[in-house]
This record gives sequence, structure tokens and C-alpha cells, in this order.
Amino acid sequence: MGIRKNQSSLTPAEKSAFVVAVKALKANGVYDAFVAQHRAAFLAGPNDPAHGGPAFLPWHREYLRRFERALQEIDASVSLPYWDWTVDRTPTASIWGPNFMGDNGTGASQQVTTGPFAFLTGEWTLTVLDPGDTTAFLTRAFGAMGSLPTQQAVDTAKSVVPYDSPPWNAGSNVNTSFRNRLERVIHNPGHMWVGGSMMAMSSPNDPVFWLHHCNIDRLWAEWQTENPGRMYLPPSGTPGVVAGHGLDDPMPPWDGEPTPPTPRSVLNHHALDYSYDNEPTTTPESVALTIGAPPVSASIGRAGEVDIFTFEVSAAGNHVIETQGTTDVVMGLYGPDDSEVFITEDDDSGTGQNSRIARDLSAGTYYVRLRHYSSSSTGNYSISVSASAGQPAVPTIAVNGPAVAGAISAGNERDMYTFTAANSGSYTIETAGSTDCFITLYGPVNPNTLIAQDDDSGPGTNSRIVASLAPGAYFIQVRHYSPAGTGPYNITVKS
Ligand code: ZN
Ligand code: ZN
Repeated sequence: MGIRKNQSSLTPAEKSAFVVAVKALKANGVYDAFVAQHRAAFLAGPNDPAHGGPAFLPWHREYLRRFERALQEIDASVSLPYWDWTVDRTPTASIWGPNFMGDNGTGASQQVTTGPFAFLTGEWTLTVLDPGDTTAFLTRAFGAMGSLPTQQAVDTAKSVVPYDSPPWNAGSNVNTSFRNRLERVIHNPGHMWVGGSMMAMSSPNDPVFWLHHCNIDRLWAEWQTENPGRMYLPPSGTPGVVAGHGLDDPMPPWDGEPTPPTPRSVLNHHALDYSYDNEPTTTPESVALTIGAPPVSASIGRAGEVDIFTFEVSAAGNHVIETQGTTDVVMGLYGPDDSEVFITEDDDSGTGQNSRIARDLSAGTYYVRLRHYSSSSTGNYSISVSASAGQPAVPTIAVNGPAVAGAISAGNERDMYTFTAANSGSYTIETAGSTDCFITLYGPVNPNTLIAQDDDSGPGTNSRIVASLAPGAYFIQVRHYSPAGTGPYNITVKS
């Protein structure tokens, strides 16, 4: 998912990437097609699908996202930046620097003569102009026509509910129409303060158009988050509402597409695969799983969501964590007792595209982090955890057979093995290698009955247990002597 950042926090390289991509679209004609689309919306007059009505915010959300996707075809790392004019509100703000938007216009012509979008570069000639206008260069006149919105004005606008109100147009009361307050009281002054080209129907000729509208879109997204029960208004078919402005109306000029965008289709901006850098990173509540209990239902309700589960292991042994359903989830296992200690991750080891982790776990609290394989997808699934100590997932060591290779691959990892003593007698369990292993012998039959433990009785720092055993199944747990230690080892059982 692309993250739209505050332009003031962009690095010089990020600013350059944005400028280069914008100029590439200008050079190949795509940019001017976008300008023409915006001008055409205004020229539709009383049937303007984009301004002076409820769809002002959805239409520009769709329009900006399409422009952003065009930029991303040039450079996939680029996202639209936003201009927060409640903070960066002077002509000397860095947004107007020569490496980004360039400066104010100068002289009677108000011509912009600095920065990448100056006419003199030969790379920024205006070709889509308002009727009667022949000015081929970008113009600006900072502050000549008004002032930029303050934080207080933004806060007041964001407190207005409902989304919109009759007569569903530029005349809607700005105290009962969030949309019209944002459009007239917050958005219009941004165009007017920059002045020049930004005052025209063809205002996207000034690239700051995108940064200004990106901020308007961000404020709408914040209002949506703060008013979760407030739906877009009005429904399609409401009398007197211009076509394209009802909730399920196809929005011109894209209404001829096979699946045309509607206001409803753009309400969730995360579903359009972007977010804003200042959105709260909510720490999701974790859900407790019980070992052996039936699967728990859950869902990735929004794109990019991460679900967290916990479970308690009281008896060391092999555990299986797996998902069920048709959603392609990816599962990470962390612990014990520390949600930041990574153990392992799995995508598709379960049935279908489900995740499955089978692991020997010591006692403690474990954490499962679950996300969709695709950062833009959602879906339902269920998850369960079961214990299967002594089941086939525990590797078997053949008595007097070849050494079994193992590894402590994470801090606090416990590896379990089993072997069968066919006859009564003395058995030697021994590790080999340079890893300082610590082994524990359990049994017979019951993997919780401790027989012996050893750290360094073998060569070097290897472990060795010599025990007189009755016939039966035995269990060996191998861990590193140090809680943080890792490393490979071999283990043998001889009689
Ligand atoms: Zn517009
Ligand atoms: Zn605008």
C-alpha cells in the first residue's frame, strides 16, 4: 500500500522522484489529458460531476488516485504528497523551493520563473487552457486573493455533520453539510491563495493542485474515521441531485467504463490501496486461543490489517497452529513470553492456501501475527492451535543408527526427539558439534517424566547422558545452554 506523506517530510530524493514522474507524464501527454478532464467537469456547468455537489470529494479521490497510478507507472516508489497549509502557509515554505514546486510568480504577468515547472525550462508549457486564455506559462500570485485555512478552521469544518444536506449543491448550509464546508470554506481558499493558474478550470496545470487536493482528501478520510456511522449522502435517485452525485451513481467521465467508479466505490480509501502517513497505527487487541479448542473465527476486515492471537503452552511439546478457510493468510509465530521474538513464519503449508506451523514449543506465552498474503485484500478465516506431544511430528532417533542433525535456530527454542529402547540396558545420549547444547531425558512413555539433565559431560561443551533404561519410548529435549544462543548440532543414541 502506498503511503501519502506530508510534503514537508519528503527527502530531496523523494521530491526529485515526484517531480521527475510528473514531468514524464507531461512529456508523454498524459498530464494534459488529466488537466482536460478537470476543465471538462467545470464546463459541464450545472451538470458538473466534480464540483458544487456531494460527489466533490469522491470525484477528486478517484481523479487523484488515477493520476497517482499514472505516476506509479513511471516510478512505482512515488505516492502523492499532501500540502498541509495549516503549517506550511508562507511564501518561504520549503514546498516552494527550486527543487520542488518553484516560487511565486513575478511581475505583472505573474509568471513562475523558478523551479522545475518554470516555462523557461521548455518542459512546462500549458496547452490545456480555459476558454479565451492564451497564457502558455504557469502563473501564481500568493496571497493576492485571500488567506490559507487555519487549523481552527479545519477543526471546525471537521466537526460538521452530516456529510451533506439539501439542496445538495453549492448552496447547502455549511453548518449542516461537511462536504460544502470543506469545499467552499477550506478547499476554495487554497486555490485562491496560490492564485494565477490555480484559479482556473484547468487548475491542475499547476502541480501544486495535486498536493492541495491530496490534503483535502486526507481531511475527508479523517472525518470518515472520526464519524464511522455517518454515511455518504444522498442515495441515488434523490430528486434534484445532479447525475454522478448520488451514492451509487456512475461518476462521469468514467461512467462508460465496464465497472465505473461511484461515490460508494471510493468511500474506503484503504481499499484503493493507499493510506496517509499520519493515520493512527492502531495496536490491535489480541485474541486468546485455547490449545485443543475448536477453531476461532476471524477476518482481515480491511486491507493491511494484522490480527494478533496468543496462546499459553503449559507442557512442552509439539504444537500445530493452522488456519482454515479460503483466505490466503500468512502466519508468524513469536515467543515465548516476548511478542517481538520471531520463531517462524508460514504462508501455504496448510490445506489450500492456509498456513500451518508445527513446532516444538517450551512452556510460555506465544504470539501469532496473521495478515493477508496481499496487502490490498481482505477475507474471513478461522484459526486453531493443538498440542500433539509424542506424535509423529517429533523426529525419531534410531538407536545405534546415524546421527540426527538439528539446530537451535532461535533463542529459547526447544527441539524434541524420541527413541525407543527395545531392551533393558545402558543407553548413551550424546550431542556433537560446537554448539553448547543442554539436553533433558524424559520417559518412559510419558514425555513429562524427567529422568536426567546434562550440560557438558560430552566432549567440549557437548552433552552426554548415560542412563539405565527399561524398554519403552523416551523423549529428549535439546536446548541451548544460553537463552539467546543458537547453533547446529548432531545427536545420537547408542546402546
Ligand atoms: Zn476540482
Ligand atoms: Zn480544487
